[in-house]
Amino acid sequence: MRSIFGGIEAGGTKFVCAVGTGPTDIRAEARIPTTTPDETLARVLDFFRPYASQLKAIGIASFGPIDVHPNSPTYGHITTTPKPGWAFTPVVEIVAGELGVPVGFDTDVNGAALGEHRWGAAQGLETFVYLTVGTGVGGGAMINGRLLHGLLHPEMGHMRIPHDEDRDPFPGICPFHGDCLEGLAAGPAIAARWGHAPADLPPDHPAWDLEAEYLGLALANIICVLSPQRIIVGGGVMQAQHLWPRLHSATQRALNEYIRVPALVEHVETYIVPPRLGQRAGVLGAIALAIEAASPSAL
Ligand code: ADP
Ligand code: ZN
Repeated sequence: MRSIFGGIEAGGTKFVCAVGTGPTDIRAEARIPTTTPDETLARVLDFFRPYASQLKAIGIASFGPIDVHPNSPTYGHITTTPKPGWAFTPVVEIVAGELGVPVGFDTDVNGAALGEHRWGAAQGLETFVYLTVGTGVGGGAMINGRLLHGLLHPEMGHMRIPHDEDRDPFPGICPFHGDCLEGLAAGPAIAARWGHAPADLPPDHPAWDLEAEYLGLALANIICVLSPQRIIVGGGVMQAQHLWPRLHSATQRALNEYIRVPALVEHVETYIVPPRLGQRAGVLGAIALAIEAASPSAL
């Protein structure tokens, strides 16, 4: 009987695959390094093949940009990625063709948002954002109960934020924009600016106030544009626990008391929160996409 789901968290450095039904029921898991599409996807398919007769659907939460529009000729492709060999890889077609099950497909951050909505820090909410600050910066959003796609899908990491070059002469590392949010505030930007991996920078290092300032400006922009009921911030950089109180107050400073609601004024630490699904947020998000693909909710 087909009763379990497959999840693929497709990342630029690794693919995490799992089968199960949720956070308390992961029956198998594998981490596969991202090499060429042929080799990586062959290993992914090898992982799922023994479960093929039990799988109800598979979800793929992918690095992008990707095409998430079902009526598009390139639906299910990773599209214009600069990652060598991966441009226009038809991942959905390959996985669906080999395993013969429905495939849910969305961005890694929309997947993580869906997982947090089903099982984690966004339960019961209709409008919220999931931002990750790691090797890159990316954001997913659920708006009125639906994952936000629109023109392509959000690219929150590339929003432009004020950059005071007297305070921070670092030009940023985004190949497209230089000093966009990702270019200034992703983990590799911190490492390039200060010459040390972020995990090695002590809590009193000036890196952290600057990082909080940039992320606070970004969250203020997100709040003004989407009016989320909560913002979940994940990714490796947020492992730095001392960054959290700084981020809370930097966001409040950036908004300058303009939006006077209790969530922002009195309870900001329950408004800007870490993912509740922790290290597995990504792959559980992919399983949530699979569950949705098997029986789309009426939302
Ligand atoms: P990815 O974005 O590739 O999925 P992660 O979310 O784990 O990966 O983010 C990786 C980034 O997080 C790296 O730039 C790394 O330097 C940074 N990082 C990892 N651990 C910490 C830590 N304890 N404190 C601050 N930054 C960290
Ligand atoms: Zn950029």
